[in-house]
Amino acid sequence: MSDLYDRHKAVLPEWLALYYKDPLEITHGEGRHVWDAHGKKYLDFFGGILTTMTAHALPEVTKAVSEQAGRIIHSSTLYLNRPMVELAERIAQLSGIPDARVFFTTSGTEANDTALLLATTYRRSNQILAMRNSYHGRSFSAIGITGNRGWSPTSLSPLQTLYVHGGVRTRGPFAHLSDADFIAACVEDLRDLLGHTRPPAALIAEPIQGVGGFTSPPDGLYADFRDVLQERGILWIADEVQTGWGRTGDNFWGWQAHGRSGPPDILTFAKGIGNGMSIGGVVARAEIMNCLDANSISTFGGTQITMAAGLANLTYLLEHDLQGNARRVGGLLMERLRAVGAQLPGVREVRGRGLMIGVELVRPGTDEADPDAAAAVLEAARDGGLLIGKGGGHNTSVLRIAPPLSLTVAEAEEGAAILEQALRDVQ
Ligand code: PLP
Repeated sequence: MSDLYDRHKAVLPEWLALYYKDPLEITHGEGRHVWDAHGKKYLDFFGGILTTMTAHALPEVTKAVSEQAGRIIHSSTLYLNRPMVELAERIAQLSGIPDARVFFTTSGTEANDTALLLATTYRRSNQILAMRNSYHGRSFSAIGITGNRGWSPTSLSPLQTLYVHGGVRTRGPFAHLSDADFIAACVEDLRDLLGHTRPPAALIAEPIQGVGGFTSPPDGLYADFRDVLQERGILWIADEVQTGWGRTGDNFWGWQAHGRSGPPDILTFAKGIGNGMSIGGVVARAEIMNCLDANSISTFGGTQITMAAGLANLTYLLEHDLQGNARRVGGLLMERLRAVGAQLPGVREVRGRGLMIGVELVRPGTDEADPDAAAAVLEAARDGGLLIGKGGGHNTSVLRIAPPLSLTVAEAEEGAAILEQALRDVQ
């Protein structure tokens, strides 16, 4: 055990989630690798927490950050700064939202909080629709709408939340249905729910649930939901905190898998855009964004140092087609892991999209989630030099794989081999 772990227990909250029995202390990284305080090297298959989007210590980002630090780190968002306006322009254009306005925050939680503030103000309703098994952050309102018992019960939310079916397909009353019937059942459930409630402000949903174990509905669900919402003027908030920036391979944003839906009314982002720098934000049509009359700033949102990182990171990821790489390398990795999973009775499903891959573990011969096996696989993979993640709340039986999008085929094969060995050792 590191002395840092002993010291941390004296100063940090008990509920701080730490992976591993002997928690890791990471000291540096390069490309898709990180090193711990003992000098051990790991292949990073979790990319921070889907935060290291391009690569660790990417020279282009490091250079932009150090040059910006040499000029000015922060001058308060009471003044304009060029990197903020330029990044806002690029995100507005990429979002697909017409007449889009961008507001920067410092985290995904704060982005969702802002989206909830906008939607409830715009629609004059404190009723929110959220998905079962969702996760939207840890502030008072974001945690309060989160549909995962790992968090929600601890909070008495100021918002009234109704939970909708559809975000998770692996279990539940509609799990046995075909894609089309599943969508039809979820839409019927939504219509029925709306018949029993005051008009909600918005539906908030992750296109692919992240903390919820990388589970997604069939393509098209949100397009059909959108029809129902639009009939009633209810806004659609897409929480793209995990699914944005090309991570899902096929699309730049997760919502695009639902094609016909068109862009959401409000889109929230964070994680990967800063390559580890704290950037979050909200994109919304002008009439929604401008419905607040508060003279408001986020002290650190949009500050020069993070915006410089975001611009350099976004430029790199677009110029190097990392979305295409996520599709190609993610496809190979998924195929390889599915072949391994087919041989192991404890692997229930290998799922996801692009470089967002979930491996759900069950007790062999049953359909019972196996969080102990997942924890053991994490430990075994670490011993083998591979870092992976797992789901949160009631999804800790799902291994989560989300490396930086620059992952090479050789690294994908190396990581898959270590993970295969870990899975076999544990089973
Ligand atoms: N939304 C989603 C979908 C997330 O996965 C997360 C974090 O995991 C958040 C919001 C909260 O983001 P942050 O931890 O940056 O506050």
